[in-house]
Amino acid sequence: MKRLTAYVLGISLLLAGCGGPVDPDKAQESIQVIAMDTAMLITTYGERSPAAAYAAEDIIRDLEDCLSRTIETSDVSRLNAAGGEAVEVGEDLRFLLREAARLSAETKGAFDITVAPVASAWGFTTDSFRVPSQEELDTLLKLVDYSAVYDRDGPSADSPAVSLGPGQSIDLGAIVKGYAAGKIVGILREYEVPRANINLGGNVLVWGSRPDGTPWRVGIQDPARPDDKNALAGVLELTDSFAVTSGGYQRYFEENGKRYHHIINPATGYPADSGLASVTVAAPAGSQALWNGTMCDAYSTALFVMGEEKALDFWRDHQDGGSPFELVLVTEDSRVIVTGGLADRFTLDENSGYTCETVSYETAS
Ligand code: AMP
Ligand code: MG
Repeated sequence: MKRLTAYVLGISLLLAGCGGPVDPDKAQESIQVIAMDTAMLITTYGERSPAAAYAAEDIIRDLEDCLSRTIETSDVSRLNAAGGEAVEVGEDLRFLLREAARLSAETKGAFDITVAPVASAWGFTTDSFRVPSQEELDTLLKLVDYSAVYDRDGPSADSPAVSLGPGQSIDLGAIVKGYAAGKIVGILREYEVPRANINLGGNVLVWGSRPDGTPWRVGIQDPARPDDKNALAGVLELTDSFAVTSGGYQRYFEENGKRYHHIINPATGYPADSGLASVTVAAPAGSQALWNGTMCDAYSTALFVMGEEKALDFWRDHQDGGSPFELVLVTEDSRVIVTGGLADRFTLDENSGYTCETVSYETAS
């Protein structure tokens, strides 16, 4: 573990009197962490709030060290550079490769970490943006196949080795922050943190409630006003939940008056053009946290690719399963669609200009 010291806001509020017991609601630590290509804000409460916040930072930095596609020594970079040969990797990457394969299968390939060569061709890995030719995309699309990622030894082997297909590479950008949020839940438990608000750049984890007992308020950014971070489509009131948003407004470039964003449809090689402007996926953080955090992140990307109709079908199909989740969809034609479980927890921003519809289990089809 290394700490390149986070850019610390240093709002450490230990307001207990000398020698007296610390009021957990007044003991608060807030740190800003620049990692995984984004600015993160970690706010923890409780007697051990500083230690918990820094332990959460350590989780993020350790994961970045082994899962970043741009750090040469990471497990992911070694795997990407191995030319199809088997590589020994750590348990974090193996867990994510297993889960990614499952998520790709159930989203019918809308989520696929082997889309990496295509994302690179658009310049999203290096920030040297360009529109690739159809010929180039056709060649690269042959490499996009999650089923070619191979875990040689199975989940319980002592000598973990995995391989990609020849020419393939992977990018965990659509899943790694959700996984990090899931791991951070373990820290919050270990340090007996009563309440926390962890924002990993579009991946939010709210733990407990606010100090006054009301739910945390999670703003959903207005995708039509990307330059104004305070412009909201609406607000979700949540406790003990993950809320993860994917949207074309989060990363894009423009060429000849056309906007190209970073979420790629693996079927076409082009930025997804599904009629959705953003997708927020929310699920409980109290149980199955590692899975639910990872799932929310992967689903937000996949459902953005799928579009409104398929996303709502997917939501309906998952209502009876073990890991329920809820959605807020913002469409390109200025509608906000909220699934039943969030209906009384979502408030539309009255200045947004959107209309709001609630979809119930029975009416989603
Ligand atoms: P997110 O912001 O979580 O939706 O993830 C977007 C990032 O994941 C992009 O910057 C790419 O690195 C990668 N990516 C883009 N499209 C896909 C996709 N269809 N499946 C998996 N990863 C993707
Ligand atoms: Mg994602």
